[in-house]
Amino acid sequence: MRPLILLTNDDGIQAQGLQALFRNLQQLGEICVVAPDTERSAVGHAITLTAPIRVDPYQFPGSGATRAFACTGTPADCVKLAVKTLLPRKPDLVVSGINPGANTGLYVLYSGTVSAATEGMILGIPSIAVSLDTWENPDFDTAGNFAQRIAAQVLKSGLPRGTLLNVNVPAIPPSKICGTRLTRHGRAVYDEEFHKRSDPRGRVYYWMSGRKADISENPDTDTEALKAGFISVTPIHFDLTDEKHLHEFRSWEVFAEQNIHS
Ligand code: MN
Repeated sequence: MRPLILLTNDDGIQAQGLQALFRNLQQLGEICVVAPDTERSAVGHAITLTAPIRVDPYQFPGSGATRAFACTGTPADCVKLAVKTLLPRKPDLVVSGINPGANTGLYVLYSGTVSAATEGMILGIPSIAVSLDTWENPDFDTAGNFAQRIAAQVLKSGLPRGTLLNVNVPAIPPSKICGTRLTRHGRAVYDEEFHKRSDPRGRVYYWMSGRKADISENPDTDTEALKAGFISVTPIHFDLTDEKHLHEFRSWEVFAEQNIHS
């Protein structure tokens, strides 16, 4: 049986990056698409609990018989719903993207793209997030091509349970790409600011903007790999425990109390 591959994103089902994923991955297996009906970038791992989730069949461009659905939920909702109800069987692979804009450092936490892959991982499916390091006139060819190669590798080799791959591709011509680097999750942050404006009714609103802060890190991090012209592949897992400092908290009086009622 051909592998079943679920594609999703956080940019909406009409996004070009998703179409690029589809074009590049269709030769690897049977494709299903379940993606948000509109853009849901930076919703992180949100799920919908207080509203109904609606799903509409969608004619994915050039896809023929491909099963595709537009969903009113978040990227994590899309993956949950796909795996638990919409797909004929559990997929062999989840690929999320291709996101315009890198998802490195702290932005992994805000990213809907990565969270969709995280949800796949939580459900026990090998999962990959793919992002391209530009918002401006993104050309998804190189990232799509690499998505195909890494997807084929994951279908062949599998992934450790509890680990997903976060892929970031530099936005430079293919001939300038120096290679592929296995990286660590870095500390990249954004310098953010709020623009204060007034709407036509005179009410104040705020709109956040920002650009990646210029910090330098170890060369083995995701952001530094991109800067140096490498495709970055970071294996990610979600044990958020602060192992390094865990013991320091043992001296706190609050942990010495044997009975919190005494
Ligand atoms: Mn996005």
